[in-house]
Amino acid sequence: MLIVKKFGGSSVADRECIFRVAERCIEDYKKGNDIVVVLSAMGDTTDELIEKAKNITPEPSRREMDMLLTTGEQISVSLMAMAMDSLGVPAISLNAFQIRMHCTSAYGNARLKRVEAERIRHELDSRKIVIVTGFQGVNKYEDYATLGRGGSDTTAVAIAAALHADACEIYTDVNGVYTADPRVVPNARKLDAISYDEMLELASLGARVLHNRSVEMAKKYGVQLVVRSSLNREEGTVVKEVVKLEKMLISGVASDKNTSRVSVIGVDDKPGVAFKIFNTLAKKGINVDIILQSVGREGTKDISFTIAQDDLNKTLKILEENKEALTIQNIGHEDSVAKISIVGAGMMSNPGVAAKMFESMFNANVNIKMISTSEVRITVLIDENDVDRAMRAVHDGFGLGD
Ligand code: ADP
Ligand code: ASP
Ligand code: MG
Repeated sequence: MLIVKKFGGSSVADRECIFRVAERCIEDYKKGNDIVVVLSAMGDTTDELIEKAKNITPEPSRREMDMLLTTGEQISVSLMAMAMDSLGVPAISLNAFQIRMHCTSAYGNARLKRVEAERIRHELDSRKIVIVTGFQGVNKYEDYATLGRGGSDTTAVAIAAALHADACEIYTDVNGVYTADPRVVPNARKLDAISYDEMLELASLGARVLHNRSVEMAKKYGVQLVVRSSLNREEGTVVKEVVKLEKMLISGVASDKNTSRVSVIGVDDKPGVAFKIFNTLAKKGINVDIILQSVGREGTKDISFTIAQDDLNKTLKILEENKEALTIQNIGHEDSVAKISIVGAGMMSNPGVAAKMFESMFNANVNIKMISTSEVRITVLIDENDVDRAMRAVHDGFGLGD
């Protein structure tokens, strides 16, 4: 079998962790399997590198930022190869250049386009364990670009797809995918299985246990994922096409604190205004999420929308620069907001799901600022300070806990 195993930062945080991972990989290697290991940077290395850059300049260039961040993964893969060598097993570390993992040009948020399989295959054929840097690709300028925070999961899936691996295992610091972040909701329940679609929603709505693009890619190429702990031998959670094991209305609750609300006040109440505002933002790469428009009065209206908090300054600047053209009288914003979402394919055919969610929020005395729904999810915007309490209330409200 060819097995791709991905270990996150906390799983390779120090010497002890590195050897634990090395031994676990060697165990499968000695059974005759081909092993490709994808690693994140050790512990909080990526955060520390970001701090280092901020210490030099508040707005470092994105290219140089990626030059810096990619060093984190290079440290963990080389140390892992040394650890395996010291245990008497041949291993080789490779980065995105050596393999050629091609990605789009967007520094800091690149998408993997194609992974060349030859070099990895060659090394596997000579019975080496191959250890690959997660989170990075090479763009058309022959530069490193990173895949967005948490992007090593996507590296693992891309490699599994390119090599037609028999298994893709994502090892982390929890036992699998839970009905909510187990660190916030202590009675969250581990799921045995979850569908790609539900996992994609949860990941996109803030459940950082998997990078959302890794789920998107796994679905596209039919890569079945297993999410499990690097610390124990528990079964973990399978992410696959259709899941009929558990007929649940709601499969999980997710929260996202990286959210800000922006309001444009007093814009003209006439056709084309919303188009102009959101087109101006889209052209500059700003992703808008929930949108709420007031009823028009005396020829004007207000539009509020949410964006990632990271994009707030850029968004305010764009709106300010285009204030007249967009007929904006005032611009308001709020950063201390967060989104809470419930996800479940079962909610489509069940009335009353939204009401139940709102009732739980009411019982916890949490005020709802904005609401957005789709067939498989409901998202509400609330005060950031309420988010953990609201998560627990909604989770209990739907009886998701143990
Ligand atoms: P890694 O470094 O292994 O990639 P991450 O920190 O990126 O680990 O992701 C694992 C974390 O995701 C867990 O520690 C947990 O706090 C968080 N998490 C959020 N939502 C969920 C969920 N629904 N199920 C499991 N973990 C979750
Ligand atoms: N090291 C990167 C991060 O911290 C990528 C990853 O861990 O997946 O975001
Ligand atoms: Mg992660």
